[in-house]
Amino acid sequence: MAKSTLPLTDPLRERLLAALARREDELRAQIAELREALECPTPASEPPGDDADLAFARTRAEIDRDLIDRYLIEIGEIEQARGRIADGTFGICPDCGNEIGRERIKANPVARRCTDCQTLHERRRPRALQALTR
Ligand SMILES: [Zn+2]
Repeated sequence: MAKSTLPLTDPLRERLLAALARREDELRAQIAELREALECPTPASEPPGDDADLAFARTRAEIDRDLIDRYLIEIGEIEQARGRIADGTFGICPDCGNEIGRERIKANPVARRCTDCQTLHERRRPRALQALTR
């Protein structure tokens, strides 16, 4: 069994897992709320709105769906972070092999790369894709 080179002490690991679990709960609650809003967009008693209202409702639904997608992506990132914690690769940048750094992990526990590699990675990606996967 390869051991992690990162000083991921037990208390730190506990804090990380707790932070990830909290964030996942938040995301799941928000997704549930958005899905409910999408299922019953307006009270049935409302008279049918004019075109502007309809357009607004449609845009709103699209924004909500985009948000749900983004939250689901983040839940996936949380799950991947848990996997890295479990297999001991957490906190190691896969691109350069250096430690990601405690401050960055504190700010963003699901960060996969160190700041330098993440910047490079984002520069390499086409802009349209960046907007989709942000
Ligand atoms: Zn790196």
